[in-house]
Amino acid sequence: MRSVILGVDGLTFRVLHPMIQCGELPHFRRLSEEGCEAVLASKYPPLTPPAWVSLSTGMKPAAHGVYDFWEYQEQPEDGSCEGSRKARVQTHRKGGKAIWNILSEYGRQSLVINVPLTYPPEPINGIMVSGFMTPSEEVEFTYPHSFKEELFRVVPGYQIDLNHDEMDNMNLTGQSERLIAATLRMTERRIELISYLLKEKPWDLCYVAFVGPDRLQHPLWQKISTMDERATEYFRVLDKGLGLILDQLQPEDCLFVVSDHGFQGINQTFAINDFLQRKELLKLRAEASSRDAGRAQVKYLLKRSGLLPLARQVKTLLRHRGLLKEAFGDITRPLLTDLDWERTEAYVPSLSGFPGSYGDIFFREDVSPERVMGVAEDLKRQVNPHTGQELVDAIYTKESYGEGQFALHEPHLLVLPTEGITFRMDLGNRDLWEEASHVHGTHQKDGVLYAYGGGIKRGYHASQAEIFDLVPTVLYSMRLPFPHTFDGKVIEDLFTEERKQAERSSVAAGHENEGSLTRKKLKKLLDE
Ligand SMILES: [Zn+2]
Repeated sequence: MRSVILGVDGLTFRVLHPMIQCGELPHFRRLSEEGCEAVLASKYPPLTPPAWVSLSTGMKPAAHGVYDFWEYQEQPEDGSCEGSRKARVQTHRKGGKAIWNILSEYGRQSLVINVPLTYPPEPINGIMVSGFMTPSEEVEFTYPHSFKEELFRVVPGYQIDLNHDEMDNMNLTGQSERLIAATLRMTERRIELISYLLKEKPWDLCYVAFVGPDRLQHPLWQKISTMDERATEYFRVLDKGLGLILDQLQPEDCLFVVSDHGFQGINQTFAINDFLQRKELLKLRAEASSRDAGRAQVKYLLKRSGLLPLARQVKTLLRHRGLLKEAFGDITRPLLTDLDWERTEAYVPSLSGFPGSYGDIFFREDVSPERVMGVAEDLKRQVNPHTGQELVDAIYTKESYGEGQFALHEPHLLVLPTEGITFRMDLGNRDLWEEASHVHGTHQKDGVLYAYGGGIKRGYHASQAEIFDLVPTVLYSMRLPFPHTFDGKVIEDLFTEERKQAERSSVAAGHENEGSLTRKKLKKLLDE
């Protein structure tokens, strides 16, 4: 029994359900009628890099080491950091086994196509094509390396992601047609590749990622959420691709459709670093009076830290999403502002929370738990004066990032705002709250899960699951043992009683097949 994971960045039921109700997307409809659907929650945080790595490993960030597009490097013990902190870009998880590693160990073959944060590609039993955060198509982005030539022969013009030209100069009013056309072209080629691989190569697992919804929904959420014919064309193309995948499945095979996070429209922003500054938790350096001098210095620090290419990439993404002009004069400003690192107790260094709709507040290591909780309580009291809406939907401490060798040293608060709100990280806003002139698309925690195939219930709405439940659930569907414990668990709710009964009797019989001990662990999990 084989499995396909169709991962779709930013896919949301908020688009799928209305389209299905209008009689569109016949293959998604089939998944919901003949399989299961559930909300797949993504909260820690709802952002592409950590979310995809959690989908791929079954682990939370503390175990796989990816929290954002970048990470701070360890600071030297002697304090010789000249008031700055170095950062580096992340293109790959730091630790933990991904599902393709586990399958390789079991002698199973995987096709891993465009899964984000898989650059450089890993040697696996099968084929890997690196995904989002691969520098370009010029580098070695396939395993085996020789597959790159075959890929371009089979699908000329294949793209890992949209190029900067295609995303650049996008805004809410202009050039949406160019972006839509480029996204459709990239998607059709990816579907061609998948159809080819599923037919021509041996596989036990096919794990492919599509990124179109994220690239389109950030700038075009208003059009997409109101079912504009052209803006929603992407989902018809994706549905066709889904149909081609379904055609390749045998009755015993399983298909999982997952997204790394959901989506929402926002038109309210809360200036979180200004808030921290007003609470005297964030302090600027006295000499950083001239904004231009500050910028130049930040640019220098970014260059030295290797962060500049990332800053450029994020800048392009944000500009393309129509967000940059409204929220930031300069992308480099909020990343590492002219902080007085000695006197600053709390700040939000990452821009990612703006398109991601979350705020990750970093605290200095010596800040007491009481003081951290005081900030959390204060944030919970914030209410939008224009709408009367509370700021906070949920606040998590760093423990929500899990346990593991990459656990964070300093205290954190991960803040998820209520619907329709995101955080801006720049400083110097007159008001903490601001209303945007347009609705923008940002991430939201409720992603998509469909499960379909052998041993899966039919026409069933399962209870909410979490992104790190995917790997144990897929291993279970493939009747494979667990090599270790996961942060996630098997989403038992998806499987038929017969399937679960078969699992229990196989465990009870103590079959000496692959890893009966770990099967017992699995049984324990299922019985809990
Ligand atoms: Zn996004």
